[in-house]
Amino acid sequence: MGEPIREDRVLVLGGGIAGLVAAWELHRAGVAVELLEARDRVGGRLWTSDEYGPFPVELGAEFIHGDRVITWRFLRMFGLRAIDDPSQDRRFVGANGRILPSGELSRPVGEAIFAPLSQAAEAWFASGEPDTDLATALRWWASRQGITITPELWELWETLAAIGWSADLAEIGAAGEVEATYEGDGWRNWRIAEGQQALARRIAEELGSVIRLGSAVSRVEWGNEGVRVWASDGEHRGRWAIVALPLGVLQAGTIEFVPELPEPLREAIDRLLPGRSLKMVVEFTYDPWGPEIGCLFVTTPHGIWERPGLGFAASEPVFSLLTGGRDAARLGALPPEQAVREVVQALGAVLGQELTGRVRRAQVIDWTRDPWCRGGYSVVPPGGAGLRARFGQPIGDRLVFAGEHTSVVRPSTVHGAIESGLRAAEQIRALRSATAAGA
Ligand SMILES: Cc1cc2nc3c(=O)[nH]c(=O)nc-3n(C[C@H](O)[C@H](O)[C@H](O)COP(=O)(O)OP(=O)(O)OC[C@H]3O[C@@H](n4cnc5c(N)ncnc54)[C@H](O)[C@@H]3O)c2cc1C
Repeated sequence: MGEPIREDRVLVLGGGIAGLVAAWELHRAGVAVELLEARDRVGGRLWTSDEYGPFPVELGAEFIHGDRVITWRFLRMFGLRAIDDPSQDRRFVGANGRILPSGELSRPVGEAIFAPLSQAAEAWFASGEPDTDLATALRWWASRQGITITPELWELWETLAAIGWSADLAEIGAAGEVEATYEGDGWRNWRIAEGQQALARRIAEELGSVIRLGSAVSRVEWGNEGVRVWASDGEHRGRWAIVALPLGVLQAGTIEFVPELPEPLREAIDRLLPGRSLKMVVEFTYDPWGPEIGCLFVTTPHGIWERPGLGFAASEPVFSLLTGGRDAARLGALPPEQAVREVVQALGAVLGQELTGRVRRAQVIDWTRDPWCRGGYSVVPPGGAGLRARFGQPIGDRLVFAGEHTSVVRPSTVHGAIESGLRAAEQIRALRSATAAGA
């Protein structure tokens, strides 16, 4: 590695919530930190627009999932407020030109609409059969229960996979689903009143000049002496580095590690799926759905329409669609105007209204094509249980990994990413202590 690295500094690669939390935790303990972020903003998949009305519109993560997750501690520390999401009590499904309460469609398998997916995965896992995908597990589980899967119910399950996993049912491994227990997270969904990105911004304010924006990492050289990182703004050196970059970015191979990462970790990076997510924000010229609908699951494309102003008593007719899996990939390949036209037409068909000429403005956020994300949220494929855990140990006492994809129990969430940042900071502390003891 050439000259010895004297700086007792920790480099944090990536300024999403995982990297920010890791940097903040070390910084407040008096450790020298430098955070390198490729974009001109912090937050990564926490990205909020305030351009649509007196309420935040989430272009990335939308909700706090659960009343007991670690995000609450951070909201309190940074003086942010949460609003119980009213849409979860008024969930509807729009399919085949009709709208019905979601519980009605899923009644044959119970009104908790997500439950069959985890029940099928658990039952398959318990059967001792080799791991399979969630589509196979669901069909097997339903036939054992004597449940007839109607085409509408199947389409709803595909929708849940698209929004809950950013994948298709056939891509999701049953055993990986069993690993992600989300145990103790509690219930219900909340919005952050100031927007998800406000959390990232507040943390960044405390970090101040520790953060380097517009610093796109391309090479990480690591060895006994420390870590050297080449980024678009030059070379950075530290004794250790926390790699808090998205799985999709690591998988794309645009960042060279020298020497290469150990084989088990490379295998995890290659085999885990980064998922595919696309969001669309549409402001209509009038309110196409009445006050009774909180949110609307749709199957063309597989996704969910939300009303970001709900809970803020705002009347602006602003709606957002989250879609995932193959539909996100297909829509992302279209020119944005065509993608908007297609989903607005499909929504109009469900609502029985002609909406095409009723769009005031629209925005497409394709996370899969975003060069600093390259995915939605990570997914364990069939046979992939145990892959996430490989990110849990420091590599060569120099590199530590953080990010939603490194959380075994709470992946694909903001709170899982926060926990991973805290875990990474703790690992760095242990490495520093070991170095000090050995000195
Ligand atoms: C559409 C969508 C909806 C979601 N909804 C929810 C939800 O409702 N609730 C929930 O809990 N979770 C949700 N999630 C998941 C949640 O957003 C993520 O789990 C979490 O934000 C991931 O944080 P992270 O720090 O691991 O990754 P990221 O936020 O992706 O941070 C990684 C950072 O690395 C930076 N970076 C990338 N490449 C480089 C490079 N070469 N050099 C330097 N920096 C680089 C990126 O710009 C980014 O800032 C959603 C995600 C998406 C995409």
